[in-house]
Amino acid sequence: MDQLHTYDEVLSLLLQNLPSPIVERVPLEASAGRVLATPVKADLDLPPFDRVVMDGYAVRSGDVQTAPCCLRVVGAVVAGDSPETSVGSNEAAQIMTGAPLPRGADAVQMVEKTVKVGTELVEVLESVLPGQNVAPRASEVQRGAVVLRPGERIDAIRIGVLAAFGQHMVEVFRSPRAVIIPTGTELVDVGEIPGPGEIRNSNAYMLKAQCATLGIDADVMPPLGDDRERTAAVLDESRGADLLIFSGGVSMGDRDYVHRVIKDSNARVVFHKAAVKPGKPVLFARRANQVILGLPGNPVSSFVTFELFVRPAARVLSGWRRGGLRRVMARLEAAVAHKPGRLFFKPALLRVEGREFAVTPIETKGSADLVAFSKANSLLMVPADATRLEVGSTVEVMALGAFWEEGF
Ligand code: AMP
Ligand code: MG
Repeated sequence: MDQLHTYDEVLSLLLQNLPSPIVERVPLEASAGRVLATPVKADLDLPPFDRVVMDGYAVRSGDVQTAPCCLRVVGAVVAGDSPETSVGSNEAAQIMTGAPLPRGADAVQMVEKTVKVGTELVEVLESVLPGQNVAPRASEVQRGAVVLRPGERIDAIRIGVLAAFGQHMVEVFRSPRAVIIPTGTELVDVGEIPGPGEIRNSNAYMLKAQCATLGIDADVMPPLGDDRERTAAVLDESRGADLLIFSGGVSMGDRDYVHRVIKDSNARVVFHKAAVKPGKPVLFARRANQVILGLPGNPVSSFVTFELFVRPAARVLSGWRRGGLRRVMARLEAAVAHKPGRLFFKPALLRVEGREFAVTPIETKGSADLVAFSKANSLLMVPADATRLEVGSTVEVMALGAFWEEGF
């Protein structure tokens, strides 16, 4: 009987043994999707001046208390003007949205509640309160206030905030430089027709696409044959990467060299194997500030172990505070039989039903059945000791990216 660590144990081992994320300065346009490393402060008040929020007439509210009444129009101010016009007693200035409030005025009456009289007069039909239709200087944000905090992910609206405060360079955490190393003498590229015993190298493409969902443009190496010396040489050559992702070669077969070579190197193996299905042979090692993850080569195992281990690691390396996938409790729509032993991540379809989640397991033909798996948007977590999960019971589910991205 294997004495393997549980998923939560190895996940916390993983998260505790990651190097700190690295800070870099990037142009604003390149910062989308990255995590902010330092606080951002307002470099000016917002609004920077008393800003008019309606088209109309700037007035002294005291003058129009007894409206309707007539005022003399002393000028016009549009957005972008610096206000030279000043509004005196019984005067008004024509004004446009976004313009600064002229001196002397304290409110704006909207154009719909005024009538022009000739060229010099305006009749104001209703009174206004002091400050009406004006956003006072600094009423949104005061200069020096922290507007974005470290740890916030930069999305479109935060790009807007950064731009509003003149941040053309932004301090963010660096995206890890990742290298994918497929192993297996049997691998041929997608453009080829596999000969006897050969398999298309689908993992290389899939893992690169998974990296892309993290904003990581991973390099993919040509497949390594199952060759000890070559594996050692490639491991040695790839010291410059932040994240090395091996596919295949971490199991117990005679030709599985990845874990053996890593153990013989100066890398420190933090764990090899975990009580998860699929993905039992997964390996995590550290070499200086480099993170090395060895994923089993079965396509489904590779996909799942990327989600369970590489994604959390890559998130933390990219500056995220939390790495793990989101878990929800859901009502099970079909019974699941299970052979006790390891926590089973079963592909499933998660959906929102009213205020609850419901989950339907997807049947597959095992750890190579990518096609069946491609219909899943989540992983149903069948506990290690369970023999059967009944219809209607409440189960734990990990949502894969697609589920959240589709929105609900
Ligand atoms: P391994 O983890 O090296 O023992 O591989 C397990 C299974 O996954 C074998 O059937 C391999 O042919 C298959 N496999 C390994 N690497 C890949 C890959 N890059 N793409 C698709 N299948 C693979
Ligand atoms: Mg292999």
